[in-house]
Amino acid sequence: MEKTIIKDKLNRPLRDLRISVIDRCNFRCQYCMPEDQFGKDFEFLPRNALLTYEEIERLAKIFVRLGVEKIRLTGGEPLLRKDMPYLVKKLSSIKGLSDIGLTTNGVLLPKLAKDLKAAGLKRVNVSLDTLNDELFGKINGRGVATGPVLEGIEAAKQAGLGVKINMVVKKGLNDTEIIPMAEYCKNNGLELRYIEFMDVGSTNGWKMNDVITKKQIYHLLKEHFELIPVDPAYYGEVAKLYRYSDTNVNVGFITSVSESFCSSCTRSRLSANGQIFTCLFNGNGHDIRNFMRNGATDEEIVSRITAIWNGRADRYSDERTAETNKNRKKIEMSYIGG
Ligand code: SAM
Ligand code: SF4
Ligand code: SF4
Repeated sequence: MEKTIIKDKLNRPLRDLRISVIDRCNFRCQYCMPEDQFGKDFEFLPRNALLTYEEIERLAKIFVRLGVEKIRLTGGEPLLRKDMPYLVKKLSSIKGLSDIGLTTNGVLLPKLAKDLKAAGLKRVNVSLDTLNDELFGKINGRGVATGPVLEGIEAAKQAGLGVKINMVVKKGLNDTEIIPMAEYCKNNGLELRYIEFMDVGSTNGWKMNDVITKKQIYHLLKEHFELIPVDPAYYGEVAKLYRYSDTNVNVGFITSVSESFCSSCTRSRLSANGQIFTCLFNGNGHDIRNFMRNGATDEEIVSRITAIWNGRADRYSDERTAETNKNRKKIEMSYIGG
C-alpha cells in the first residue's frame, strides 16, 4: 500500500498508534486509577461514547496510510472489552501494518491468549510490579494476588505470544522488588521493562521525589548482574535495552522522566472515546469520533489527522519541571493507555 509520510513541527514522522479500547479496569493501581478517585461513583464512559470496532478499524486503516506501522491496544484494561480477538483479527488484516501488541494486567490472559494469538496478535506486555502477594494486592487496589497474573503470563507464552513485563517503580513502594523481579524475568526468559513513575493525569499524587531513575536501578542491577548495552532496533525505540551477559535475555528501561526521548517520539494516541492525543501529557484531545459519525469521508479524515500531526510540537518530558507538572491540564492514563 502507498503510504504518505507526514511529519510534525519537529520533523518527527507518525509511526505508532496506541489505541485505548476502554476506560474501565478491574484494578485500581495506585499510580494510575487510585481507588479514592475512581471509586463506586466514578462515571465511566457510556457504551455509545466508545469507538466501535468498525470505527477503530476504519481509523486504523487511515493511520496506516499516513505512516503508522505499529499498533498497540491498551486501556483501561483492554481485555475487559468484549470480544477483543475480533478486533485484533480486523486490525491484523490491515496491509502495511507490521506489528500489533497489547498491554494488559494479564488477569484475563488465561481465558483469551489462544484466541488473541489465532486472531493475529504478536505480543503482549504484561504489567507486574512485584512478586509479593501482599504488596501486589496493595498496589492494584483490589487485593488481587500475583497468581492470576503469573498464570496469564504462562498462558501467553503457551499460546506463542511474545511476552514482555512492565514494572512501574515507585520509591518506598516497590523499589525492594527491583532485584527479585529481575531474577524472575531473567530465569523465565522474559524481557523486563522498568518504567519510571510518571506524572500522567492529575490523580496519582506524583512527586519528583517518588521517582527512582533509570540510573539508580541500573547501578543496583550492576551489583548483581553483568549487563551489555543493546543498540536500539529501530528509530524511535522507547526502551533503553541491555542484555544479561550470560543469556540472550534483555532488560530495559523506560526513562520518561530522567532521560526524555521526545526528539524521536513518533506516537499518536487514540482515546477510548475517539479523541486523538499527540502526547501522553497533553490534555487537549482532537475529536475524530463525532467528525466520523457526522459523515466525514476517509479523505476528510486523512486531512484532519494530517493537520493535527503537522501542528504537533509536543515535547513535555523534555520540558518537565515541578511547575509544568502542577500547572498543566493532563489526560488520565486510563483514557489513553500509556
Ligand atoms: N491495564 C493495562 C496494564 O496495566 O497493563 C493497560 C493500561 S496501563 C495504563 C498501561 C501501562 O501504563 C501499564 O504498564 C502501567 O503500569 C503503566 N502506568 C500506569 N500509570 C503509570 C504511571 N503513573 N507511571 C508510569 N507508568 C504507568
Ligand atoms: Fe488498570 Fe492498568 Fe491502570 Fe492498573 S495500570 S489501574 S491495570 S489501567
Ligand atoms: Fe512523546 Fe510526549 Fe512522551 Fe515526549 S512527553 S516522548 S512527546 S509522549
